Amino acid sequence: MADRPRQGIERRDGRPAEGPEHHSGVVRYVADAVVPCDGTVPAHRPGAVEVSGDVVVRVGAPGTLRSAGPGVPEVRVEGALLPGLVNTHCHSPMTLFRGTGENLPLLRWLEEVLWPREAHLEPEDVFWGMTLAAAELLGFGVTTTCEMYFHEDPIVDAVVAAGSRAVVTPGVLQLPGTDGGSAWWDACLDRFADFHARRDGESGRIDIGFAAHAAYTVPLPGVVATAAAARARNALFHIHLAETEGEGDAFAAEHGGSVPEVLAAAGAFDGRVLAAHSIWLSPDDLDLYVAHDVAVAHCPQSNAKLASGIAPLMDLLGRGLRVGLGTDGPASNNNLDLWEEMRLAAMLARLRQGDAGALPAAAALDLATRGAGGALGRPDLGVLAPGAKADMMAVSLDDPAFVPLFDDAMLIEHLVWSASSRLVTDVWVGGEPVVVDGEHRSIDVGRARDEVGRRAARLAAVA
Ligand SMILES: [Zn+2]
Repeated sequence: MADRPRQGIERRDGRPAEGPEHHSGVVRYVADAVVPCDGTVPAHRPGAVEVSGDVVVRVGAPGTLRSAGPGVPEVRVEGALLPGLVNTHCHSPMTLFRGTGENLPLLRWLEEVLWPREAHLEPEDVFWGMTLAAAELLGFGVTTTCEMYFHEDPIVDAVVAAGSRAVVTPGVLQLPGTDGGSAWWDACLDRFADFHARRDGESGRIDIGFAAHAAYTVPLPGVVATAAAARARNALFHIHLAETEGEGDAFAAEHGGSVPEVLAAAGAFDGRVLAAHSIWLSPDDLDLYVAHDVAVAHCPQSNAKLASGIAPLMDLLGRGLRVGLGTDGPASNNNLDLWEEMRLAAMLARLRQGDAGALPAAAALDLATRGAGGALGRPDLGVLAPGAKADMMAVSLDDPAFVPLFDDAMLIEHLVWSASSRLVTDVWVGGEPVVVDGEHRSIDVGRARDEVGRRAARLAAVA
């Protein structure tokens, strides 16, 4: 990050550059542009965002905001202010496995590379894997991730320590050769219920959900029980669904229907459901998604790299489904850069449709911001609007990517098509500065790199 531009922040009241210290009052951020991602205007140029505590209270042109009173601290942002990006599907601690099992199809990679290593994971490995991922995510302006992984307590510990935000959904997963009886998933769900009771809502930054890895790795009664446990708590039920062609064949032969058909009939779609990937859906499956308001985590890079397929994004959006972008884990992507997902989502949608107008830039940006928050059932994330969480990123406009710039719509086009995460200079979560001038304030990135490198080597050696 040494070469990232030093735009940063200066305060007109002369106080230090770290950002607001007085969280009880209002702080006004004034930027060259504010891109609210709220479905109203593309941008306010210049723009301002007023924040009280961890919540946005006003957004607009600086002159139009009702004054919060004299002496409102003002933070000057050079560049554009956007909501923090929201990553709807990730296995972040897998930074420990980045670059392993390259070029293998999904099932062989899981069975031959990943699961043998994961069998030797210690809680502290997961803490450091998540910490390094949080450094990467926050550096890219990604302020929320939806995590599916195990060793769930150290994941929350790492997210809270990093000052980030997450929906943490520990997952039921039956490894090959293990007993898949009901006692096993009952024990998992007891543990997750305790985890939910202890940590849901922690620090105002953590939501706890429940995950079943997939219908091909968890017996049907276990999937249904996991969904029921989530539904009983109005928590998110997170599952990989229709990721690879043919993964549902054995399931259909055994249960007499597609995974969506059988899960819907069993009541597993009756609560808050997030279905990752969702590539190989029949028209009937799509109808079931619509009928049950199933949200989709769309992971174009992972799907492309693993040759899983191209999801029917325009069909999903055209049916009014809630869709957000996900990076998937850093072992199958291999980075956590949601900016890349925006661009690839638009490219693949255009290729699949044969339409250069499919998924315009504003719609692609929506998938990483407001749409992603909606997919997680969090309309207060991924948007700069009154009542939203003050999760924000500053993007330098002092770059060739933004030349020429004729109007506000063009600013959005440039953000998606020619800018990138390298232009993110500053990041706030709940109004707290976590990246300032490209430097992390809450994470010792050097130590995280060392810890993950050392632990990854140990896991590679024992597997
Ligand atoms: Zn995944």
